[in-house]
Amino acid sequence: MSAVVDTLRLTAEDALGLVDRGEVSPAELHAAYLQAIDEHDGELHAYLRTVEEAEGTSIPIALKDVISTKGVETTAGSRILSGYVPVFDSTVAARCKEAGLTLLGKTNTDEFAMGSSTENSAFGPSRNPWDPTRVPGGSGGGTAAAVSGGLAPWGLGSDTGGSIKQPSALCGNVGLRPTYGTVSRYGIVAFASSLDQVGPVAKTVRDVALLYGMVSGRDPADSTTVEVDEPVRLPTDERLDGLRIGVPRQAVALEAIEPGVREAFEATIGLAEELGADVGECDLPLSFDYGMPCYYLIAPAEASSNLARYDGVRYGLREDAETYRGMVERTRDAGFGDEPKRRIMLGTYALSAGYYDAYYGQAQRVRTLIVREHAAAFETFDVLATPTSPTVAFALGDKAADPLAMYACDLLTIPSCLAGLPGLSVPCGFSEGLPVGLQLIGPQFGENVLFRAGHALERALDLDLVPERLR
Ligand code: GLN
Repeated sequence: MSAVVDTLRLTAEDALGLVDRGEVSPAELHAAYLQAIDEHDGELHAYLRTVEEAEGTSIPIALKDVISTKGVETTAGSRILSGYVPVFDSTVAARCKEAGLTLLGKTNTDEFAMGSSTENSAFGPSRNPWDPTRVPGGSGGGTAAAVSGGLAPWGLGSDTGGSIKQPSALCGNVGLRPTYGTVSRYGIVAFASSLDQVGPVAKTVRDVALLYGMVSGRDPADSTTVEVDEPVRLPTDERLDGLRIGVPRQAVALEAIEPGVREAFEATIGLAEELGADVGECDLPLSFDYGMPCYYLIAPAEASSNLARYDGVRYGLREDAETYRGMVERTRDAGFGDEPKRRIMLGTYALSAGYYDAYYGQAQRVRTLIVREHAAAFETFDVLATPTSPTVAFALGDKAADPLAMYACDLLTIPSCLAGLPGLSVPCGFSEGLPVGLQLIGPQFGENVLFRAGHALERALDLDLVPERLR
């Protein structure tokens, strides 16, 4: 533990208070986290690199290594980007700087954010602070491990099919995947552009709302962004009176959901009713039957196109050869790990002449139906609720050799991502001594209702989210 603050328990909001009141300086706070990283990151490997100088007027932040940071190496967990030092800041990194936040470091991720455990990182996996023999989830496992292990007050991740929500659940953090288009993707290493969204990970719903307020909003450099007309409201309500919560029948019927996860989820839904919410069942049959296959056509298709830029000329790694073509081949062979290669092949196939309409085109049509199915559910409900992950944190190595088992980690998070909807994961209990996450899905631009619901439940649950072994 550091001398100035207890980094394991300090929320970002309280840290901001300490700095505002002049009780702790930004440099002292930064140093306290660096010291915690020094002590614990040997075990957790949450960070790929740290930044020593605190250039800012406020509290520190950790950024997932897919977020370009001027002058600080950005690798996306891939060997092909090693040595790449961006000459510009991504919009979110720039907004953090404008808010005075100091960059603590870049956190570990599955290569190009492809994975659910960080085991696909070219630089070795991160570990779960609750039990270092287990994964912290992924792809944003580094940020999640950093926040729950007291190595950062908060951080930004990116979520394509669950990479903010799932690691937040597995590490006992709060994580928000915002509505598609509310946070700029400019300067984010692209995986699947129609799905990628940047969002906050923190200890509390209020912290997440604060950080979302700092980074969201229209960006002229990303034409898919919009201005949200409703300002972010920091939640205070401790009741859920009048809130209509829909529980998708097909989601909770999934056999993959562990009994302990189901129990924590059901107890939390019961609690929501006690707090005044009206809970009902809803139907999203297509979303849960076809969401996964649809995602694993669209995401690899877009990835195969996005990853074409790594040619040994423009970024990072270069393996020399006699000819230009030989150089590109050798660079891509040496630079990409198995998962990106798998997805480049899947995606290239799905987009190839003669198959385009049967695979990619069909997946896009299914995606439209998934969008409509969700829109219909929101005619009756304000939020939808499911567990975030079917399981608690699993052991390192458990699924690493089985891509389909790894893909199944996101069964519950993927459908709403395809629909472009916001999702908040909030800790809702424990199973086997490990945190369980509740996923709340809102309508487009429904972040405030997610914050309200998440905050009331967080207050009522009042869980101790410091990993037991670190208390
Ligand atoms: N696990 C999913 C995948 O591998 C989602 C990853 C993400 O959201 N970046 O694609």
